[in-house]
Amino acid sequence: MGRLILVPTPIGNLGDITIRAIEVLKSANVILAEDTRTSSKLLKHYQIDTPMRAYHMHNEHKVVDRIVEELSGEVTYALITDAGTPGISDPGFLLARAAIEKGVDVECLPGAAALIPAVVLAGVPNDRFAYEGFLPVKKGRQTRLKQLAEEERSMVFYESPHKIQKTLADFGTYFGADRPACVARELTKMHETFHRGTLSELSAHFEANKPKGEMVVVVQGKR
Ligand code: SAM
Repeated sequence: MGRLILVPTPIGNLGDITIRAIEVLKSANVILAEDTRTSSKLLKHYQIDTPMRAYHMHNEHKVVDRIVEELSGEVTYALITDAGTPGISDPGFLLARAAIEKGVDVECLPGAAALIPAVVLAGVPNDRFAYEGFLPVKKGRQTRLKQLAEEERSMVFYESPHKIQKTLADFGTYFGADRPACVARELTKMHETFHRGTLSELSAHFEANKPKGEMVVVVQGKR
């Protein structure tokens, strides 16, 4: 049987990759990459010349069976995404599940994921938390928000800068304007910033200052 190794890549700072991740990427037969052009910069930086193949949300359903078939031979495939840990709001789950079912030796290396520094420094309780990823944009959004209004653990969301104002406004409506929260921006990058305050304070901040960059929102749970 072959091996499938899910390899986390940096979420901004190119230094945030482990020695083991580099070794795996160098020695794998194939790197399955979400965007081969994006990943070629990382691979070039670390002088990795392993061949890449595209594996992303638009082709994963089509190619997953073939890849698992190939993994029945003596090969090692590494899976990477544009940033962070594969399978965390990124492609990876389908392939990992199919490979596990077929008895392939599957591993996930520990490494960068945007939710971790955000939840550690948000300033809200983090002994327990619920990772929510991206909220549904339309269908199911209200239902999810209603359910989450009862959540007692801190909640962690991924959001894009052009939807953050709507999302903070919705959080204010469903969770209450006084709920403490944090928007962690551009983690590990030059302009990393943590904005902490109530949901209404955060909304006011992003009304006055155009939201920019990648962001994680952490919201304290219901008291
Ligand atoms: N697999 C990634 C991980 O392990 O965190 C997540 C990929 S998801 C498609 C991209 C989202 O992650 C962004 O929209 C943003 O919410 C969050 N994100 C990724 N990098 C970030 C960073 N440097 N700072 C803040 N948020 C980030």
